[in-house]
Amino acid sequence: MDAAAILLDALFPGECLACGAHLLHGTLCDACRMAIAPHRGVFCGACGAALPGLRNICHPRVPYLLGAAGEYGDPSLRALIHALKFARMRAAAEPLADILAHYIARLPIDLKGMTVIPVPISAARMRERGFNQAELIAERVAHFFGLPLMKEVLARPVHRDPQSEIDDRAARRQNVAGCYALAPPRRGFLRPPPATEAPRKVMLIDDVTTSGATFTEAARTLRAAGTKKILALAVAKAI
Ligand SMILES: [Zn+2]
Ligand SMILES: [Zn+2]
Repeated sequence: MDAAAILLDALFPGECLACGAHLLHGTLCDACRMAIAPHRGVFCGACGAALPGLRNICHPRVPYLLGAAGEYGDPSLRALIHALKFARMRAAAEPLADILAHYIARLPIDLKGMTVIPVPISAARMRERGFNQAELIAERVAHFFGLPLMKEVLARPVHRDPQSEIDDRAARRQNVAGCYALAPPRRGFLRPPPATEAPRKVMLIDDVTTSGATFTEAARTLRAAGTKKILALAVAKAI
């Protein structure tokens, strides 16, 4: 660090990305971290019911098991997600991924053989935001558990309005219908071979799930390509 950077650091120490409190290090203050009430188990992706037996008993056609570290109504979680998605603060991915990883670590689920896949965003959204927030979270979670990360296998060739701007459940489902695809083969030397088959066991990661429509559509695409088990994980759920 040069002198100017040291001076800037002293003048403007870090802030808690959820409440704005001054911080000497890190991105989330202890009070906000403690205020988050973490979940313990998994849920039905359709109705949000807690599933004690790790099985979709109430809505057996949901093509994944839903895990969520907390509720979207939790002020700290929501502030962090807003900082990441709407204020485009990449640093907010760090505490969010850590919260998710700690939640996953306590699930009674064998993670062996799982491949971590982030829910992709469209090229237009990528240009607008500059990064895929789900990918930033997925990278850190994959690293935490030492699991392989595949960013290339699932793609979002179709751009639509953000789900957050649609209230109606059926309309949300309609809005993401047919949005995802296995990534098309890339041309050129030293490119990875085209994805023709999806991994058998997938940990599908997104920041928030509200209606489950995004997870359902992405999970269907993966299942059609050979995936057998999907644990869909969001940092926060609003179901
Ligand atoms: Zn705080
Ligand atoms: Zn259900």
